[in-house]
Amino acid sequence: MQLRLLLDAALDFIYPRIYCVCCGERLEKRAVHGICDNCCEAMPFIHDPRCHVCGKPAPEESETCPECRYHNHEYDRALAVFEYSATIRELIHRFKYNKEYTLSRTFGYFMTELLMECGWTADMIIPVPLHKNRLKSRGFNQSALLGDYLSQRINIPCEEDILIRSIDTKTQTGFHRQDRLKNLKNAFTVICPEKVEGRNILLVDDVHTTGATVDSCSKELRRAGAGKIYVITAAAVLSDLATGGRRQ
Ligand SMILES: [Zn+2]
Ligand SMILES: [Zn+2]
Repeated sequence: MQLRLLLDAALDFIYPRIYCVCCGERLEKRAVHGICDNCCEAMPFIHDPRCHVCGKPAPEESETCPECRYHNHEYDRALAVFEYSATIRELIHRFKYNKEYTLSRTFGYFMTELLMECGWTADMIIPVPLHKNRLKSRGFNQSALLGDYLSQRINIPCEEDILIRSIDTKTQTGFHRQDRLKNLKNAFTVICPEKVEGRNILLVDDVHTTGATVDSCSKELRRAGAGKIYVITAAAVLSDLATGGRRQ
């Protein structure tokens, strides 16, 4: 982790963000997140009212979204910065597959802002782990990069050796909720339960789809005696059910 922080600092120095990560326009000095004012205005931020469980938009009149009324989650609360729109999908793709590591600072910046607003108190950050085979082929864990960034900003440790992905699951893309849950059954293991017992955890991931991945992690953390389990992601996939048909 230390090496990554050093590399990140070096990158910031050698390659400070001069151009907007979305449109390539020259940035104002204060745009430390790397997005120009025009693009920032068009970003699909998720706004209130939000579901008080999954953090996706909820109808005005209710505190819980329609999805959470039908399905329980293993975590206590989740929040996401952006709707997983085409723009965000492309940015996340660049981050994960084109290895644009500096995008962790763009996403991390907005995730930090959201965390500061919501007032959760966590003892440690745990990034959703990749299986060692996936880590080897991709070369890095995008959630760990986000976790490291948040750790620096909000000053709580990012622990990568507590929760591991013990089964190399099939990719979840295209799976529905039940299939995702089945695919992830027993995929995660807490290897040092004593470190999570009674502690509040902030789980970090890039995208919250049905929540099956973070639910599976939360179940294991819960079994190990964790206190509150919060989830923060850069983006969330909104279903028509979650938006009550408001989405265009
Ligand atoms: Zn721009
Ligand atoms: Zn919900």
